[in-house]
Amino acid sequence: MALFRALVLHEEGGRVTPRLEDIDDVRLPEGEVTVAVEYSTLNYKDGMILQGIGRLVRAYPHVPGIDFAGTVEHSDSPAFNPGDRVVLTGWRVGEVQWGGFAAKARAKAEYLVHLPDSLSTRQAMAIGTAGFTAMLAVIALEKHGLPMGAEALVTGAAGGVGGVAIALLSKLGHKVVASTGRTELRQYLEALGAIEVVDRAPTTPPARPLDRERWDGAVDAVGGTTLATILTQLKYGASVVACGLAGGSDLPASVVPFLLRGVNLLGIDSVMCPKWPRIDAWQRLARDLPLDKLDTMTEEVPLSGVAALAPKILSGAVRGRTVIDVRR
Ligand code: NDP
Repeated sequence: MALFRALVLHEEGGRVTPRLEDIDDVRLPEGEVTVAVEYSTLNYKDGMILQGIGRLVRAYPHVPGIDFAGTVEHSDSPAFNPGDRVVLTGWRVGEVQWGGFAAKARAKAEYLVHLPDSLSTRQAMAIGTAGFTAMLAVIALEKHGLPMGAEALVTGAAGGVGGVAIALLSKLGHKVVASTGRTELRQYLEALGAIEVVDRAPTTPPARPLDRERWDGAVDAVGGTTLATILTQLKYGASVVACGLAGGSDLPASVVPFLLRGVNLLGIDSVMCPKWPRIDAWQRLARDLPLDKLDTMTEEVPLSGVAALAPKILSGAVRGRTVIDVRR
């Protein structure tokens, strides 16, 4: 019997408890493709799952990890062969199905994407769900007419989505302003490509429905009053992408910017995103994301170190991206 290492969550006395365990293939979920996982990563949602917040997991014991990258070990699908390097994000893997915080995973073939040649499995997880979401956000802005050399705002800048969005937008020639609650990370944000770093928007709803027109586009990972404030500051016809709720899930906003400035509020869902936009986004990441900048925003931890980081990512104290070497 082949055993592999996994971080397993148990529900004990109303609390979620993580334990490192050696488990066998028989316990893997159903699926056509078995993957030897090399890296996973810590996303905001992983923090929620590890802490048992939001009832995202319905059944325990559970292996979390909403994304992973590795090499195909066995495939019943003609789309994948043993030795193929693959990446998986979303599809509620790590929530309703067992996820990537394990040395082995099994999934439906349609959930997997072949990794572009220029990306290693470690780089794929340095990008992870957060970076993939940032790429979808940039593509959405482009589809909605983001002009060349745009003045673009990125909120939650020191986090995962924010960091990758800054690096992408600046590489594409845009002038990126980073909004953060951690202005002490100015140097880090400038190294990623921000031309200006501003203190986080106030936590009160905007005082008036229209403010000075400032942004050609924005990527917002925060929601709440931050997103409401951005709407008042978009230039005529410009767009903001709502991709996160780190600051709240409400939206205390006015419809006036939509009616008088024709602005657009674009939604991003990386979880159920169909296959072709996924492949396109991974190709774009391989082409447009500067890997040296990805490196500067990435920390690596062993599987044994993940659970301790969950409260930190939920309180906004993790910088950039955290890659997990599941073999350590
Ligand atoms: P991180 O924790 O890495 O980053 C979130 C950042 O938001 C923090 O670094 C911090 O940035 C800022 N922040 C945290 N708390 C607050 C607060 N109370 N008020 C204002 N800002 C705050 O998370 P990710 O980047 O991985 O994810 C960001 C958001 O995007 C999450 O809400 C996540 O659930 C969502 N998400 C959505 C996806 C989708 O498919 N739509 C996919 C992936 C993520 P700073 O220190 O710079 O202020």
